[in-house]
Amino acid sequence: MKFEVTILGSSSATPVYNRNPSAQLLNCNEKFYLIDCGEGTQQQLIKYGFKASKIDFVFISHLHGDHYFGLIGLLSTMHLNGRIKPITLFAPAALMEILELQFKHSETILRYPLTFVPITADSPQQIFENSDLTVSTIILNHRIPCTGFVFNEKKRLRKVIVEKLEEENIPLEYYPLLKRGVDLTLPDGTVLLNKDYTTDSDEPRKYAYCSDTLCDGSYFELIQNCDTLYHEATFLHEMLERANQTHHTTALQAAETAIKTGAKKLLIGHFSSRYKTLQPLLEEASQVFEHTQLAQEGSTFSI
Ligand SMILES: [Zn+2]
Ligand SMILES: [Zn+2]
Repeated sequence: MKFEVTILGSSSATPVYNRNPSAQLLNCNEKFYLIDCGEGTQQQLIKYGFKASKIDFVFISHLHGDHYFGLIGLLSTMHLNGRIKPITLFAPAALMEILELQFKHSETILRYPLTFVPITADSPQQIFENSDLTVSTIILNHRIPCTGFVFNEKKRLRKVIVEKLEEENIPLEYYPLLKRGVDLTLPDGTVLLNKDYTTDSDEPRKYAYCSDTLCDGSYFELIQNCDTLYHEATFLHEMLERANQTHHTTALQAAETAIKTGAKKLLIGHFSSRYKTLQPLLEEASQVFEHTQLAQEGSTFSI
């Protein structure tokens, strides 16, 4: 099953050096989840060949503009393009006020149902579940209420060994039971042991998105053992004081977080506009945690 994330924006605060503000597109089993929606996200979707119409769920971490200024444009375009499919938006409650004001004064009545789910930054909770995954919030420590998100893939059904079943002429109608782990008794009394005809599915994967935060460890428990951890790394560690003042993280701290929480891979992003090239940030983090990559725009990472 596909479980991958494409980076649409990795800049903090302002768009600079061809870097756009935060946005990521998660593809889980061909369902699309947009995580944050900085200014220019629509253009980025087009640039990297994604259809906005495929997005059914949007998650906004907090109400600093670099994480949601692209949303009104995106929602409007969906309306203008004739979307009728519902969309669900998970975001701080005040965002609905902001959107309603914008729709009111542009006299826009959306053609499609927009379900707004307010999220609070008080305590972590599961906010979404479908057959593929669950999504839970991470309470981050930023200047305004801010949540990250954990995307936990669900355990899939067992995989049937098709060649063997075909060879023994086992009818297709038995496959669903085998996938669920059931031993079968055929009409002639033959018993098929599940373990002989199926293999276990892959271990479910975990992706955490930690946007703007002071790296204070308060949320580490919620991001244990990620297959891929995205963590903001706004500054180099020489700017630690500034990072602390602005409630952000350094590349070194992001790498230490990956180690402390047992992540397999680390993506760093939300780069300050002071960095024209990102290599120093990558080097700083990689020296501590080898499996670090830059969340560079247009890159897709398998989780
Ligand atoms: Zn930000
Ligand atoms: Zn912020």
